[in-house]
Amino acid sequence: RRPRVVVLFGGRSGEHSVSCATAAGVLSAIDRQRYEVVPVGITRSGRWVLVDDDPAALELAEGRPPVEITEEGTGRGTVTLPQGGRGCVLVALPGQPPRELAVDVVLPLLHGPYGEDGTVQGLLEMAGLRYVGCGVLASAAGMDKQVTKVLLGAAGIPTVPHVVVSPRTWRRDPELVLDACEALDYPLFVKPCRAGSSLGITKVDRAQDLSAAITAASAVDPKVLVESGVQAREIEVAVLGGRDGQAPRVAEPGEVLMDPEQGAGDFYDYQTKYLAHDAVSMVCPAPLRSEERELLRDTAARAFDALGGEGLMRVDFFLTAQGQALVNEVNTMPGFTPYSMYPYMWQVSGTDYTSLVSELIELALERSTDVN
Ligand code: ATP
Ligand code: MG
Ligand code: MG
Ligand code: MG
Repeated sequence: RRPRVVVLFGGRSGEHSVSCATAAGVLSAIDRQRYEVVPVGITRSGRWVLVDDDPAALELAEGRPPVEITEEGTGRGTVTLPQGGRGCVLVALPGQPPRELAVDVVLPLLHGPYGEDGTVQGLLEMAGLRYVGCGVLASAAGMDKQVTKVLLGAAGIPTVPHVVVSPRTWRRDPELVLDACEALDYPLFVKPCRAGSSLGITKVDRAQDLSAAITAASAVDPKVLVESGVQAREIEVAVLGGRDGQAPRVAEPGEVLMDPEQGAGDFYDYQTKYLAHDAVSMVCPAPLRSEERELLRDTAARAFDALGGEGLMRVDFFLTAQGQALVNEVNTMPGFTPYSMYPYMWQVSGTDYTSLVSELIELALERSTDVN
């Protein structure tokens, strides 16, 4: 039979509806001759439910309320994981006892906490289910911007100067935190340590606004980062794991260009990312000097390995006028709608969306589920 693929999306994070949009793209494009698809949504409260295989209902659109997976909305049944690593899920249709459904691969199209951060990966490991993308450690490390910086720093990869604000110091001694931030260059960028889609990020131009920005970020994650603002081009690099233990593959770098006249924000914020379609263009290949291109691609592959990446990762850079490539952050489940940067960079590099999804599934099938 064809490999059975559970497409898992929605979830408990602030990126719930972005994840649904990603699922819409994958459900429309996945090669159905080759794979049997079972769409499973996760509600905001964390329940797993069978969802109609209807991509149009999952798309994110301006002027329409954000898509949300609800238990009532589907009524098609619930999905749970059995104990023991048996490589199956339990499906319970309304009014019927649960039955086992063997699963070959799970495609966790989840962004942010409880999705991109190693937690769902750990759950799938326990259940003996193969899954697409980074494992527990790389997912957790990639989600946490401070841990990412530590691991990249150890590998000699430069990142942006920053101050870490722990919830304990912020509560006990905010003055100490504000003093430490004086060593940074304005404008400052204040961000939750573990989040995505620019949720909770504030650009701070004046010292008197710093406290409020830290408080706002800490509502998303109690651990906060304050960074020096970098004046630079934003270049993203898509990395795909290698087959059979080969080195990771790297696509042509892409550049994010924003046009404030078309409604782009002051930086690449949520609104600009997902709703101001005319305000952003993704240019791939980014116009780069050959040594810049080499540096970015080589650093992206090294970052992937430094974090123990598997499957996929998007490495986001600031490229300064002096030609320095600083890693801003990595995303282990980058935006993956057909309009997102990661698939676009692969398309330009010769792998179309459908083939990319197949390749990710094949990489996961190649992986062992055995921890020994
Ligand atoms: P993603 O959706 O890519 O996961 P994220 O929520 O993890 O995003 P970042 O990529 O760290 O957040 O920051 C979002 C945007 O904020 C960046 O693309 C950039 O425009 C701006 N930004 C963040 N940090 C800095 C900085 N130190 N200097 C200048 N701009 C920054
Ligand atoms: Mg991110
Ligand atoms: Mg992200
Ligand atoms: Mg980013």
